[in-house]
Order: sequence, then structure tokens, then C-alpha cells
Amino acid sequence: MKPMYKRVLLKLSGEALAGDKGFGINNDVVNEIAVAIKKIQEIGVEVSVVVGGGNFWRGRTSEGMDRTTADYIGMLATVMNSMALQDALENIDVQTRVQTAIEMRQIAEPYIRRKAVRHLEKDRVVIFGAGTGNPYFSTDTAASLRAAEMEAEVILLAKNVDAVYDKDPKVHVDAVKFDELTYLEVLQRELKVMDSTATSLCMDNQIPIHVFELSTDNIIKAVMGEKIGTIVR
Ligand code: UDP
Repeated sequence: MKPMYKRVLLKLSGEALAGDKGFGINNDVVNEIAVAIKKIQEIGVEVSVVVGGGNFWRGRTSEGMDRTTADYIGMLATVMNSMALQDALENIDVQTRVQTAIEMRQIAEPYIRRKAVRHLEKDRVVIFGAGTGNPYFSTDTAASLRAAEMEAEVILLAKNVDAVYDKDPKVHVDAVKFDELTYLEVLQRELKVMDSTATSLCMDNQIPIHVFELSTDNIIKAVMGEKIGTIVR
């Protein structure tokens, strides 16, 4: 098995970790993701991960609260998810490091680019917590930023839909699925792939985004370069 990429950044949404529960962390799901990460690492892929926080908290939907405070709570939520994923990976003997964009040295390393790259070279999975460390951003933007910094060849965007459509396929039966898109098409048609800040960052730095439905098989297929989901480039 020869993977298509040497270094990838996997972006998991917070909701994905909640599974059917819709809130919090579903251990079965997290364990399954850990197994998938272990498998792609075993075939020689260096893996870094950015996890969302929407299963606990979203800054933009917290009514009445100061936006920046709400966003910081969101960033803390991503750290909880990062630690849960770290635990699941270490349970199956995958070496990991969590690095956070907000310092919390008792539980994780602070984000240091050179150190993160070194961890990847030593076959450790690096999980980036606390998003970008800045309010008004998203974990999608964190994923784009870290992918650029790590010189990852692709962002694997594992979602709860199987691809990008012109409209919500759960609401519209006639929704059209895209196999490939350009960054500009995503921006102009306001397709819900990533937010516009994250998409622009990928466009400016030529980082392809591979969107597919989260499952162990799909993560492996994406790394092998199989045509699943949608590729934005
Ligand atoms: N967040 C932030 N800055 C960042 C990353 C995240 O302020 O760089 C906050 C923001 O409030 C967001 C929340 O953290 O709503 C959770 O992250 P996100 O919504 O991206 O997670 P997902 O929706 O993918 O689960």
C-alpha cells in the first residue's frame, strides 16, 4: 500500500466526535478515529490533527455573551476534544503530542512550529488544540494555518456528509454533488466547505482540501488518493 501523501492534516469537526449523541464525546467514535489514524501512520503518513469544538460550544451561537469570551470558551472546548483523541490514540500505542495555541502547560505543550514538525518527523501524531488562539476565527482556519505551517500536502476534511453539494442534500433531493471544485467556486457560490477565511488561506497557499464523510475506511481511502467525496484545489 503506497499512500499518496507523506504528510497530511486531518480536520475533524466537533460534531463528528459526538456521533449520534449530538453532544459531548462518543467514545466509540473517538476510538474508531484513533484506529484510522494509526492505520495511515503505519503506512508511512505523518499525521497532524485539528479538532473542532462544536460538540461542546460554539462562539457564534452563545446568546448575549461577549463574543470574544464566547470564542475563548469555544477554543477551550477544542482542547477537551484534543485530549480525548490523545487518550484514545495512546490507548492503542500511538505516540502523540497535543500542542495548544493558548498556553496550558500542565496539560499540553504550547504550539511551537519547529517542535511540531520534529514530532511529525519522529512519527508522533500532533494534535493542535485551542484553534488559532484568536477569537473571530474558526477551527477550519486553524486547520488551514497549521497545514500551511506544517507544509502538509492536503487537508483531509472529515465531515458528517459524504461530499460537497450545491445545496443541503438532507433537505433537497435534487442537490448536485461535486467531485472537484476550485477555491473560487467555493467562495463565489458560498458553498459550505470551510468558512471563507479558511478557504482563502488554502487558496493563497495552494493547499488542496479533500472533503469526505468521516469513517475509518474513508480516511484510509483519502490518503491512498481514491476518488471519494470532493476535492477542492
Ligand atoms: N474558536 C475561535 N478561534 C479559533 C478556533 C475556534 O474563537 O481559532 C471558537 C469559536 O467560538 C468556535 C468554537 O471555538 O465557534 C468551536 O470551534 P469550531 O466551531 O470551529 O468547531 P466545529 O464547528 O468544527 O466543531
